[in-house]
Amino acid sequence: MKFEILYQSKKSRARVGRIHTPHGVIDTPNFVAVGTNGSIKGLDSLVVENLGIQLMFCNTYHLLLQPGSKLIQQAGGLHRFMNRTAPIITDSGGFQVFSLAYGGVASELKSQGTKKTDASVVKITEDGVWFKSYRNGDKIFLTPESSIQAQKELGADIMISFDELPPYHTDQQSLEKSLERTHRWEKRSLDAHLANPNHQALYAVIHGGVDINLRKKSCEYLSSLPFDGFGIGGSLGKNKPEMINMLTQVMPSVPTERPNHLLGIGDLPSIAECIPLGLDTFDSSYPTKAARHGTILTPDNQHYNVTRTRFALHQRPLVDDCTCYTCQNYTASYLQHLFRAHETTAMNLASIHNLHVMVTVMAEYRRKIADGEI
Ligand SMILES: [Zn+2]
Repeated sequence: MKFEILYQSKKSRARVGRIHTPHGVIDTPNFVAVGTNGSIKGLDSLVVENLGIQLMFCNTYHLLLQPGSKLIQQAGGLHRFMNRTAPIITDSGGFQVFSLAYGGVASELKSQGTKKTDASVVKITEDGVWFKSYRNGDKIFLTPESSIQAQKELGADIMISFDELPPYHTDQQSLEKSLERTHRWEKRSLDAHLANPNHQALYAVIHGGVDINLRKKSCEYLSSLPFDGFGIGGSLGKNKPEMINMLTQVMPSVPTERPNHLLGIGDLPSIAECIPLGLDTFDSSYPTKAARHGTILTPDNQHYNVTRTRFALHQRPLVDDCTCYTCQNYTASYLQHLFRAHETTAMNLASIHNLHVMVTVMAEYRRKIADGEI
């Protein structure tokens, strides 16, 4: 993997870059679509690729449980299995294991995960994590080495180191201990990766919760190791202003010559605030999840719900002048009818539009940075 910075803003930390991978280029800043099970719900790989989604996020945890990383390897790797020719990033599986234990991804990100709500994490040891499969109750042991092995079998262009996601409501001592263990696990991930690089890249994950000193310590340690890039993970605060405040303080400690990725945040208002801080890529299931509920994104960072009565007779596209497949062919009125009739076509057409908006908005950000507007 190679990262080149094409333009560094003089106004902010924003930059325009290009990540070169074995499966092609990712222009940055960019949005990364989430296809948990190796598919964005309702859209096949060719549709996604034609929308211009340059990087797709697939979840190792889910693929491990079904159909299994070994099966995917036998099928020729994830790219061939799902027929995607463009780059793929996979996570370590750790995030899902821990966030399911602490009460779900969404509540953990909003820092509301206060206690373990189920028994999916059976035991955490220095070696790794025992967890119970939500599919069949099987006990599975995930370690830095086995996570990297699974990501090698999947064959992602970019892999993510195995880390521990501490709950938001944790005491200082536990947070420090968790960070130290995460660093040991990430170093072990790196060693396992370097034993068989396989033209793949590995990102570290910067942790430290809402403690700025721990965050800086994490940046310092991880940037001393030959990771190809950096994810920023864990809880960054209980709301957006806190997250932006934390990132404003953390980003100057993140190495600029390597790409970085904000894990699990990708709504348009957050992206707008994060780009000037120097963030390169963002993954989120929000645009497609919102689409499935009829929420339509617009290029000016707004959204509306097409199922509301006032769109019943709206004989125009979802967004005027939108060049996406959906807006070129169908009206908001028809979309509303499909949603109300519970036709899955509604979700697919709305997902196509929302992803198109993400692609065009990110291209516009790159233009604005290059033109000195950001
Ligand atoms: Zn559209």
